[in-house]
Amino acid sequence: MRISQILTQAKARNRPVFSFEFFPPKTEEAAHNLSETIKSLRSLHPDFCSVTYGAGGSTRRLTLDVVTKLKDEAGVVPMAHLTCVDATKDDLRGVLTELKDKGIENVLALRGDPPKGSTTFSSTRGGFQYGHELASLVRDEFALCVGGAIYPEGHVENRDLDMNAEHARLKVHAGCEFLITQLFFDPTRYFDFVAKLRSRGVYVPVLAGIMPITDLGQVDRFTKLCGASIPQTLRTQLEYAQGDPIATRELGIAYATHQCVRLLEGGAPGIHFYTLNRSASTRAILSALRASYP
Ligand SMILES: Cc1cc2nc3c(=O)[nH]c(=O)nc-3n(C[C@H](O)[C@H](O)[C@H](O)COP(=O)(O)OP(=O)(O)OC[C@H]3O[C@@H](n4cnc5c(N)ncnc54)[C@H](O)[C@@H]3O)c2cc1C
Repeated sequence: MRISQILTQAKARNRPVFSFEFFPPKTEEAAHNLSETIKSLRSLHPDFCSVTYGAGGSTRRLTLDVVTKLKDEAGVVPMAHLTCVDATKDDLRGVLTELKDKGIENVLALRGDPPKGSTTFSSTRGGFQYGHELASLVRDEFALCVGGAIYPEGHVENRDLDMNAEHARLKVHAGCEFLITQLFFDPTRYFDFVAKLRSRGVYVPVLAGIMPITDLGQVDRFTKLCGASIPQTLRTQLEYAQGDPIATRELGIAYATHQCVRLLEGGAPGIHFYTLNRSASTRAILSALRASYP
């Protein structure tokens, strides 16, 4: 099923959409853990699940395998992430052909990050420079449902929010039927950025990307990489809990649940959980939300 259709139906029924993001496992043990996570989260009836695409296409085969398993074995609607890193247009056409042949209908079209050790992205000869160019290819040549990424606090290479909103507009113009945000911890950032999009005539659904915190060091590393900020009140609480993994996880669950309620009450059409291939926190948060948003 196409995610655009899921979003339309959910809106008609006045219910939010919930989705989970996984990354492809690189070892047998990680593959086993991911299977257990998917089993555990499947009972929460996600509207769709997505699978990331590793740097430079390093997980091409694994990403394809996991999205296929999600569809054929777990019976959930899958979405494959795809990036332009180290890929010509023909390479990308090859991946998209395979996805289409396997019956995958949804793609998150991304530029991807610069390769390790490099701070700027340069396109491969015969490839793309921006995510919106890939979105056009997905729509025009493959007629798949395509989504794009957006950054409520600005992208790391460009912190100007108006320019970020303009680049999001280009993605929608190129065919993105929905957008998913980078992780963030202050709902105001989401509402302000969505208002900027609406003022530019961008009306597609914007799913809020939420990562349950389980470790302060880890969230510090992630936010540094992606340019998100941690509100001072949250940081203070995390510092109190530091060294106590259970207290940190419980704080992460409580904070994210509160954040999701504010987002949904404020009009967000759904939540995209960055699960990090673990189920406990996402399960707890979504179970709490399901009590109010069945
Ligand atoms: C929901 C989500 C999922 C993700 N999944 C993955 C994944 O699976 N694998 C992975 O490697 N990475 C993933 N990423 C990270 C993403 O690849 C990086 O953030 C990357 O640096 C930008 O990708 P993009 O598609 O948003 O790029 P773009 O939209 O191309 O933007 C890249 C930069 O160029 C600027 N820009 C865009 N258009 C123009 C233009 N026309 N003129 C001038 N400047 C422009 C933007 O402001 C930005 O600074 C994900 C991010 C999100 C939010």
